[in-house]
This record gives sequence, C-alpha cells and structure tokens, in this order.
Amino acid sequence: MTQPLLNRPLFNRLALIGTGLIGSSIARAAREQGTVREIVATARSAATRQRVVELAIADQVAATNAEAVEGADLVIVCIPVGACGAVAQEIGPHLAQGATVSDVGSVKASVLHEMAPHLPAGIHFVPAHPVAGTEYSGPDAGFAALFVNRWCILTPPQNADTQAVRRLKHFWQALGANVEIMTAEHHDLVLAVTSHLPHLIAYTIVGTADELSQVTRSEVLQFSAGGFRDFTRIAASDPTMWRDVFLANKDAVLEMLGRFNEDVATLTRAIRRGDGDALFDHFARTRAIRKGIVAIGQDSPAPDFGRPHPDLPPEPLPRPYAAENE
Ligand code: NAP
Repeated sequence: MTQPLLNRPLFNRLALIGTGLIGSSIARAAREQGTVREIVATARSAATRQRVVELAIADQVAATNAEAVEGADLVIVCIPVGACGAVAQEIGPHLAQGATVSDVGSVKASVLHEMAPHLPAGIHFVPAHPVAGTEYSGPDAGFAALFVNRWCILTPPQNADTQAVRRLKHFWQALGANVEIMTAEHHDLVLAVTSHLPHLIAYTIVGTADELSQVTRSEVLQFSAGGFRDFTRIAASDPTMWRDVFLANKDAVLEMLGRFNEDVATLTRAIRRGDGDALFDHFARTRAIRKGIVAIGQDSPAPDFGRPHPDLPPEPLPRPYAAENE
C-alpha cells in the first residue's frame, strides 16, 4: 500500500469556499497536519468572515469567492449542495490553471452535474464527501479531529486525472480519514440508506411527537433518554443543508423510502399478529449490525441510552435514592 505523504505540504494554497462546520474543520486539520502552505477562506456573510478572522483558522479571509480562489492549487467548496452550481459558475473564470476543485457535499451526482459545466479545461474536478459531521453548524462548531478514522468518499468523473485524484486522496488521508473511491451514483444510493433516510426518519418522529404537543411538553421530553433523545439530536441538523440533500438525491431517497415502507409494513403485520418470532429475528439481525459497526471502529461501544442527563449531577446519586418514608 502506498504511504500517504503525511506532514509535508501537498498543496501550496488551499481556498475554502464556505467556512462552517466542515470548512472550518478542514482549515483546522490542514493547518494542524501541515498539509498545505497557506489557507484562504471565505463565507457568504460578512459576519461569518469576521468570525473566521477572530478564530484565526485561516491565513487570509477573502471578501469574495472569486478573490479566494485566485492562485489556489486546491479549492474546496464547503457549502450546501443546492448552492454549488452557482458558486462554480462564479469561481470558474478565476481558477488557476491546473488547480484541483473539490467539494464536501452530502450528495454527489447532482453536484457533479451542476459544477462540472462551469469549470474550465485544465481544472481537475474531484468531488468528495467526508462522511463525518455533527448536528452543529458554523465556524465555531468545527474541530481538527472531525475526520479522524471517518470515511471520505471521492467520486471522480470517468475522465478524471489520476494524479489529481491521488493527491486529493493523500490530502484526506493526512487529515486522518480513510478514503474510498466510487461513482457518484453509487455514493448517492449508499448514503440514501445510511444517512439520508435515517435523517428523514428522525425529522419525522420528532415532528410527530411535537404535533402531540400536550405529550411533548411533559412525558416525551422527560423520558427522552429511551431513544427519542438520539432522534432529536439528528433532527437538530441544519435545515438548509438537509433540504438541499433531499432535493438533490430525490430518486435514491424515494427508492430507499419505498423499501423502508415495505419493511415497516412487515413489522406492523408481525406486531398485529403477535408474531414474536418474526420480531425477535428482525431485532437480532439489527443488533448484529450494530455490533459490526462498533467492531470496525465506526462508533464507540460505550452505553449511550444511559448517558448522563445534562441537568443531573455527574456523580451517582447517594444511595438510598429516596428516603424510606417518602
Ligand atoms: P454550515 O456549518 O452551515 O456552513 C455552511 C457554509 O456555507 C457557511 O460558511 C455559509 O456562509 C456558506 N453558505 C451557505 N449558503 C451559501 C450560499 N448560498 N452560497 C455561498 N455560501 C453559502 O454547513 P456544513 O455543515 O459545513 O455543511 C457544508 C457542506 O458539507 C454541505 O454541502 C453538507 O452537505 C456537507 N456535509 C455536512 C456534514 C454535516 O454533518 N454537517 C457532513 C458531511 C458533509 P454563512 O455562514 O456566511 O451563511
């Protein structure tokens, strides 16, 4: 296996268009690992650009996207997928010859389709998706270790320059990620089931509970450690980003939703018929999947449903928990 060129700059000048959770994490990690000589960042609003200056996570903060990409040999677009086409059109004429342009969007076929036509000949376009994130947004939310031991999927077009792909692969490896290469269409199908559908389910469940508002105000929140709390964390993810994901990955999500609805119908029937064996078999299969995820290091085995409630003291309560005479 080829060793990545760790700890020496792979690129001279990295331009980050968008400096939210993902962009700012790339800036922090690239600086920490010394993978680029210089970082130029920009964001849509003056307020975010000002915050990036205050956080000092880039060497320069540019006022416009066009200015940010001047002289950059690596440009990474870190904005919601629905905005990628317009930004590619804006930066296209200002890109340096031979530069690599990439992105971090959670959907790949639509980004490829919308950005590629605006990138001039001689530019190497290698879309990417770091499968790492949190429910927080903005430059304060980023951290250098976000990509460590996470996957980053590259979806180069068929005619992509192999040298440019290899260099971007080394860049992500230097940030701690494991890199996989696949087609954009395959990526979108896989992520529809592993990420997009779970988010849709979380948004649905939390919304349904909220509609039962009388319950929500009391018991649902009170007893949320029973699993609902994890849904609320996922459902707190950025609304703009996720709106764009569902619009951009419509076909794959609809395909997975169709299968999901069939499976829900099967489980519904098992519950109605009192078919305990069917339920047990299904749950045993899913428990094994969870164990597999922990075994390959993609999650911690630490108990999660029982994690401390933020309002409770971190130390165990003294026993007995309640006075005998209560
Ligand atoms: P974020 O924290 O909300 O940051 C988004 C950044 O994009 C901000 O700097 C924002 O600027 C800028 N921006 C927003 N709309 C724009 C527009 N129309 N034109 C130009 N710039 C715009 O978002 P994020 O979580 O970093 O997500 C960025 C991308 O990463 C998305 O495509 C998402 O699919 C992908 N991704 C996210 C995660 C995750 O867990 N969050 C994981 C993997 C990949 P202002 O602050 O000035 O508005």
